[in-house]
Amino acid sequence: MEKKARKRLLNILESIPPLKEIMVSTGPLEKKREKIRDLLNTMLISTYDDNPDLPSLSWVLSRDAILVFLNITSRRSEKVAGFSFLGYLNDLIHDDKIASKTPPSSGFFAELSHLIHGISGQADVYPKNPPAFTKYHGKRAAKLRSIDLSRMARGVEKFSMRYPSGLDDSAKRHRYNNKLRILRHYKATDFEWSNWRWQIRHLIKDAKTLKKLVKLTDEQSKAVELAQKHKVPFGITPYYLSLMDYEVGKGRDDAIRAQVIPTLKYIRKLIEFKAHDESSLDFMLERDTSPIEGITRRYPHIVILKPVLTCPQICVYCQRNWEIEDVYSRAAILPKPKLEKAIEWIANTPEINEVLITGGDPFILSNDRIESLLYKLSRINHIQRIRIGTRTPVTLPQRITDTLVKDINHFNIPGKREMLIVTHFEHPYEITHNSIEAVQKFRRYGIEVYNQLVYTFFNSRKFEATVLRNTLRLIGVTPYYTFNTKGKEETDDYRVPIPRLLQEQKEEARLMPGTVRTDEIVFNVPGLGKNYLRAIQHHDVISILPDGCRIYEFHPWEKKLALADTYIYTDVSIHAYLQKLKAFGENISDYKSIWYYY
Ligand code: SF4
Repeated sequence: MEKKARKRLLNILESIPPLKEIMVSTGPLEKKREKIRDLLNTMLISTYDDNPDLPSLSWVLSRDAILVFLNITSRRSEKVAGFSFLGYLNDLIHDDKIASKTPPSSGFFAELSHLIHGISGQADVYPKNPPAFTKYHGKRAAKLRSIDLSRMARGVEKFSMRYPSGLDDSAKRHRYNNKLRILRHYKATDFEWSNWRWQIRHLIKDAKTLKKLVKLTDEQSKAVELAQKHKVPFGITPYYLSLMDYEVGKGRDDAIRAQVIPTLKYIRKLIEFKAHDESSLDFMLERDTSPIEGITRRYPHIVILKPVLTCPQICVYCQRNWEIEDVYSRAAILPKPKLEKAIEWIANTPEINEVLITGGDPFILSNDRIESLLYKLSRINHIQRIRIGTRTPVTLPQRITDTLVKDINHFNIPGKREMLIVTHFEHPYEITHNSIEAVQKFRRYGIEVYNQLVYTFFNSRKFEATVLRNTLRLIGVTPYYTFNTKGKEETDDYRVPIPRLLQEQKEEARLMPGTVRTDEIVFNVPGLGKNYLRAIQHHDVISILPDGCRIYEFHPWEKKLALADTYIYTDVSIHAYLQKLKAFGENISDYKSIWYYY
């Protein structure tokens, strides 16, 4: 095993002979570090010269890979990451025991080999020959370019066809039958189905009922049973259940099921955490950013107000799972005196001009409560904007009644105060004529509806998110943020490596019109706030661990305005992610450039 690891490593280093020579030489590690730095600096300078050995554009990949290598082998990065990447490489070559003590994974070798290929200009990302249009000018060039662009568009179409929307005829037929089956089960009428309170009264919270209404895999069934037994919040609205296919494993509704049906790993981890210290679940360190109960503040002008800490159903990856006691629980409503205090705090903080009312989902409150809350906030002169975060257009569209929308619109006063809705569609299969109607009710009054997408394994296949964005625009929703799934251990099954978000933006979203790709990809830094992933200067790769996971250092959003700590984050391994995609039926060569995003 040790010899094999050494051999594999030396094979990879073969692509840069002087680097290999330094690594196999004997002598102190610090001397090698200096030599590597000199070598890479020389290579870096040569990427800026017109290096005829590097194919066109490969110099950019080479430059980026060199900078990453310089960074991960620096003393500062080692200190911050708490791991010496260079020391580990050296040990793998010179110390036979290290490979058996801390064996390098396939993910580690894959990272290293792509990094070395990137540095040496062998990244295999670009075709050998430049496109034909580059050889011509004028109409001839334009026609050839147009042929290329059409080919690209057809490629997008080919991928997009794989992700049915809930507006497709076959999905509509399935859902109609699902609804009839659920209504028959509850001996209910269509009229009752349209009433959100009926939906709430019939939340499906146990495996027995769930199994009567849709087929489950053994794992899904066991996970729901365990959730029930250990009081892990779980529930599904009858409406959302009707979006699932009755049969399991058809592939169309994977994202829908994954939204609410937890994995066994998730449940087991949660049980373990709850038994010890629940604070481990507070990944976003909300406790450290809450100056008063019910309020979270991470930015100068905006606060989050949480009048209720539950939802009609719980998303498995929810960042607030540590606060949510149960699905649709009355006990989750912030008691009136505490809510009054939170509002008073906002009134006494004149710098705040925007309030995001979220939770939980504020639309599970009665109209009277919502109106009273909005009325109190509207009395605060410095509040110019009230955002309401709700997933009910997706999980319980019946809740968006004309009365509710009118009540909200009452506070929308052009020139004085803006009301807007931020919702959370995760997949095109979630979009139905009911959700369109819910969105359009707001739009008819001129209230904008935005979407926050959480980028999970289940919506991260090639062009899956672009299909969602495109369909959202068609129903009147503006894509606003795409969030990296929080790095919570219990939600590992949902996590996607950061390079995949970057790749999606550059190679998929970028092909869409600007009116469709309006969202920003962000990593929410615990205790600090959003880091815009698109800006390379806001984060760095500082190490690669033996298990193939990269360590990132995120810079605080206010870094040029004030001093704040950076944040160290261990990502999920690209290799492991690609293997999961493969098991899901994906051709992983479609994702091959992922390694060159940092
Ligand atoms: S809708 Fe939002 S707050 Fe509610 S469970 Fe989902 S992620 Fe959490």
